[in-house]
Amino acid sequence: MRYEGAVYRPPSEAYSLIIQVTLGCSHNECTFCNMFKDKKFKIRKLEDIFEDLSMAREYYKIVKRVFLADGDALILKTDDLEKILVKIKELFPECERIGIYGTPQDILRKSKEDLIKLKNKGLDIIYLGVESGSDEILKDVNKGATAKEITEAGKKIMDIGILLSVTLISGLGGKEKWKIHAEESAKVISEINPNYLGLLTLIVEPGTPMYDKVNNGELELLSPMEVMVETREFIKNLNVKNCVFRSNHASNYAPLSANLNEEKERILAQLDNLIENGNGFRNEYFRRL
Ligand code: SF4
Repeated sequence: MRYEGAVYRPPSEAYSLIIQVTLGCSHNECTFCNMFKDKKFKIRKLEDIFEDLSMAREYYKIVKRVFLADGDALILKTDDLEKILVKIKELFPECERIGIYGTPQDILRKSKEDLIKLKNKGLDIIYLGVESGSDEILKDVNKGATAKEITEAGKKIMDIGILLSVTLISGLGGKEKWKIHAEESAKVISEINPNYLGLLTLIVEPGTPMYDKVNNGELELLSPMEVMVETREFIKNLNVKNCVFRSNHASNYAPLSANLNEEKERILAQLDNLIENGNGFRNEYFRRL
């Protein structure tokens, strides 16, 4: 397969065929993110995408899942995305799931009718980075969307019935804003009620504006214990149904997973235990994005 630059995908797409339909991210301004800093945003030509799909068909015997990258592949025109989805179904009749990254702006820009068309052509899951439910923090990190817009975008996908997987970043507000981060994020996620919720933990990468902020002392990072306290506050305030919660990514200090709200008490007890014992956290050296 041919790829341009580093390729990122959600953890649950680890075994998927990754196809770059865009290069980079059209926003590319979140202060904590350095994923696509080396790429100039570009939408790839349909013929190149089709060529990649044909190459993959020759190479792989069975493809159960396809993931459309890079950063916000949902930015493509609906017509073009439909053509790609049709081509995937044609070449990989065994494919059971097609997923894509979408920003809140991408989702809001599309009409409900467009999203229904994409669903009908086989788009099964959209991954949306929420990061925080606090407007103050979203502004600090230059997310380019407000909590209201993110909520609207998430609800739009849930109403249509495309699976929605969202991510938050614990520790994003630092020591000063941890409580507002936990409370406001719980509000936004409760309102969206996504199918899947992933909680990553902030890793500050050199070369990002956030790295400079930490070095200048403008942002004080949470300790592993404080991350657990923030996570507890978030879960305590969360009210969702049938939501698969995972916080077992390489960036996290401790692995957590539960079906919420059903297992809320169990996960709160697990967090209490971690807070009380104050150990067993992943070593900083082994944390990865
Ligand atoms: S929208 Fe996502 S990929 Fe783009 S800069 Fe922000 S975090 Fe990075």
